[in-house]
Amino acid sequence: MRIVVRGAVWFGLYIFLILFPLMVGAVFREPGGSPSILIDLAAALGYIGLALMAFELTLVSRVNGASSAFGLDALLQFHREIGIFAFLLVLAHPLVLLLSGLYPLIFILPLPTVPWPIWMGSLALGAVALLILLSVWRKRLKIRYEVWQLTHGLLAILLLVLASVHILSVGRYAHLPAVRLIWFIYFVIFVGLLLRYRLLKPLQLWGKPWRVIENRQELGNAHTLRLRPVDHGGFTFEPGQFGWINVGRTPFNLEQHPISFSSNGDIPSGDGEIAFTIKSLGDWSGKVVPAVKPGARVFVDGPYGVFSMDREQGPGYVLIGGGVGITPLHAMLLAMAEREDVRPVILFYGANTVDDLTFRDELEGLVQRMNLQVVIVLSQPPEGWTGETGYITGDVLRRHLPKQYKRFQYFICGPTPLMDGMEKALPELGVPADKIHTERFDMV
Ligand SMILES: Cc1cc2nc3c(=O)[nH]c(=O)nc-3n(C[C@H](O)[C@H](O)[C@H](O)COP(=O)(O)OP(=O)(O)OC[C@H]3O[C@@H](n4cnc5c(N)ncnc54)[C@H](O)[C@@H]3O)c2cc1C
Repeated sequence: MRIVVRGAVWFGLYIFLILFPLMVGAVFREPGGSPSILIDLAAALGYIGLALMAFELTLVSRVNGASSAFGLDALLQFHREIGIFAFLLVLAHPLVLLLSGLYPLIFILPLPTVPWPIWMGSLALGAVALLILLSVWRKRLKIRYEVWQLTHGLLAILLLVLASVHILSVGRYAHLPAVRLIWFIYFVIFVGLLLRYRLLKPLQLWGKPWRVIENRQELGNAHTLRLRPVDHGGFTFEPGQFGWINVGRTPFNLEQHPISFSSNGDIPSGDGEIAFTIKSLGDWSGKVVPAVKPGARVFVDGPYGVFSMDREQGPGYVLIGGGVGITPLHAMLLAMAEREDVRPVILFYGANTVDDLTFRDELEGLVQRMNLQVVIVLSQPPEGWTGETGYITGDVLRRHLPKQYKRFQYFICGPTPLMDGMEKALPELGVPADKIHTERFDMV
């Protein structure tokens, strides 16, 4: 199925599932009308808000059809924005009820006289507020990613249980068997997805381990882990895609990281070998990864992602990389070289110093093998450097792009300022938006 059609089908299904409980409630409700239009509005807000939250997990639990149609980074962004939108809907729910004048203000206060189903609703609202706050301020509050991930999951389960109890006990259409059945099915879907994500998937990965055959120090304070499948065929991937790597004893621990494949995804040798190149940045990449020994067993979930030149054909390619953002671009170059693809490629590669240029020697080799021009841009150039200096900007691009550059496909991966700068500079140069493709390493 074409990717646009697949995307439209998934989105249509999503919207249908979000509105379905409300539609059934509205169709099957008893005649006689509602005491106030505001009560109906409040019910609609609550129903849509809860349905949106119930399906948040589908967006991020690596459901293959959805992630291959939209890309995991787009789904994560959607997950974040929809989460905030759903919070605003459920926040508006009690406010509209109060506005109707049919419910006293004390209902939203934590008093022992308030009926327990209302308490459940208030607690659910508190849980979702905390969940959003911790997500938006995770970095500012300096919460470790793994701690946040665990808290995020637990709060999500808590709020769905509390909100379901609230809706089923006092919800506007809660007495209707059809509505009860739908909420029950939604809850089962949520639990099923959770079990698939946290139990079934790790079990599958456990049966397909990988062995580290080399842990090589690279320029740019990075390490390349070369892996081979143990007693299974491994997988191929599109150049530019990524996988989740887990170097723990079992695939059940939370410490799994998204890393782009830096090797050629066509796996021509038939031994299934893949490679990840990881820059030392934090606890895991700086301490755990450098200490991984050859022979160690690791687990890889993949491939994922839509940042792939195989999906975007053009007469030529412009690759723009900063720092360790070179990894998916390196995989693309390797694939093109192996495929003897003669289309022109220009790589703009930004780094601080010459010694920060991960894959420097490999790139020199690739220049000999394919139609590749490499433009290095150094912010701290050595004495006598005659190349570009500073950062990759629109002016740097303009100096090196060939005449037909507007027809080329553009792939950008690097630190946020580079990505933001290029997303502004390329349209200014007249590159159409549908030819600009980005991968953000800081998507979570
Ligand atoms: C699609 C994609 C591809 C990537 N490819 C590469 C690559 O090829 N090479 C490379 O060096 N880096 C890559 N990264 C970045 C890499 O995932 C993070 O740098 C790494 O997880 C940092 O972990 P840490 O614990 O060492 O650092 P920390 O300092 O603890 O974390 C730094 C930031 O990394 C993110 N992060 C940390 N842990 C996780 C996790 N378990 N899952 C998701 N995000 C996390 C969080 O935003 C966190 O704030 C990629 C990221 C993405 C999203």
